[in-house]
Amino acid sequence: MTPRGVAILGSTGSIGTTALRVVERQRARFRVAALTAFTNASLLEEQARVFQPAYVGLVRSGGEGPPDWCHGAGDACLIDAATREDVDIVLNAVVGAAGLNATLAALGKGKRVALANKESLVMGGALVTEAALHGGGELVPVDSEHSAILQCIAGRPRSEVRRLVLTASGGPFREWTREQLDGATLADALQHPTWQMGRKITVDSATLANKALEVIEAHFLFGVPYDRIDVVVHPQSVVHSFVEFVDGSVLAQLGAPSMELPILYAMTYPDRVCDSGVPVFDPVAVSPLQFEPVRRAEFPALDLGIAAGLAGGAAPAVFNAANEQAVALFLDGAIHFSDIARAIGSALARLGTAPGGSLDAILIADADARRHVQELFRC
Ligand code: NAD
Ligand code: MG
Repeated sequence: MTPRGVAILGSTGSIGTTALRVVERQRARFRVAALTAFTNASLLEEQARVFQPAYVGLVRSGGEGPPDWCHGAGDACLIDAATREDVDIVLNAVVGAAGLNATLAALGKGKRVALANKESLVMGGALVTEAALHGGGELVPVDSEHSAILQCIAGRPRSEVRRLVLTASGGPFREWTREQLDGATLADALQHPTWQMGRKITVDSATLANKALEVIEAHFLFGVPYDRIDVVVHPQSVVHSFVEFVDGSVLAQLGAPSMELPILYAMTYPDRVCDSGVPVFDPVAVSPLQFEPVRRAEFPALDLGIAAGLAGGAAPAVFNAANEQAVALFLDGAIHFSDIARAIGSALARLGTAPGGSLDAILIADADARRHVQELFRC
């Protein structure tokens, strides 16, 4: 078999480095054709030396310009990498809205997009779906919940799906009171109980904004209306999600909390491979498994995001951008943990009815929401 060319956008991050481990084990199936990163030049250079991709792009290369081992720089390098002839699969592991253009470009060129960058689908759900339809591209989720759902519904018509139930670990603050949450520090928020991830998604998991992003992501990926997508807290992160069918039967996909299998499955789908490296599953070792309702009043970002999804237009883009901006401020120590949901609520109250029919409209809503959040805390 000829190895398929893979572009890894965001190769220096948590998903990117895990993906390179997966590809390394699967050298007969995949070859790294392109790598991009935002700033971490030394790690990117090391990856380029090991994997010898034909294209390496560094988005922000600093004052002296891109190093001589780089083939591209600036935001355009994501699109250059994602649309190359020798690339069959684009693993979009960029964090945040910066991933949108590459998702659209890759789908427009008929590539398979293994999508970790959920923000691009949340911002531009209709545009992304349309780009896949017109360009012949294929969108396959990397997010563990959506990978689980895909595995459960594989081969069945969507009309048989009654309900999706996404699991949420509950994050580090699952049992914290409202008073405790008011005093939550950055260090507390970065202590995720089950997953090792980049800083932005770790904070999103603590606020449950991540689960709201995932509900919207599921809506666009699987065409299921919002009133048939539920969320349940499952602290062990072993059941990655449930699908309920019209006859009442419920399927789930289980496994250790590792992104290796979802990344591999997004690249081999619908096939399964026997040398995945996933350890043997031991139900006794992972028991007991718990399930709890979400404490929605304590974690308002979840319902704010679902309401944005239901509102449609540019509201999901406003939700996403306000969240990104507020998380950036929280990571800088400029605002409190509970300010994140407050910022999202404020941005949606002001901008939640903005139109979202075109890429321009979505980018305007994104910029307005970021500005709104910056102004909210400038005093
Ligand atoms: P991360 O912060 O560890 O890595 C992000 C990568 O994107 C880095 O390589 C960085 O250089 C690059 N990047 C950052 N800003 C960029 C920009 N403006 N332009 C271009 N590249 C940029 O993040 P992560 O945890 O790997 O998450 C990546 C994406 O995958 C996110 O959308 C996240 O929600 C999603 N995701 C992550 C996990 C996980 O386990 N980490 C699980 C599910 C989904
Ligand atoms: Mg997830």
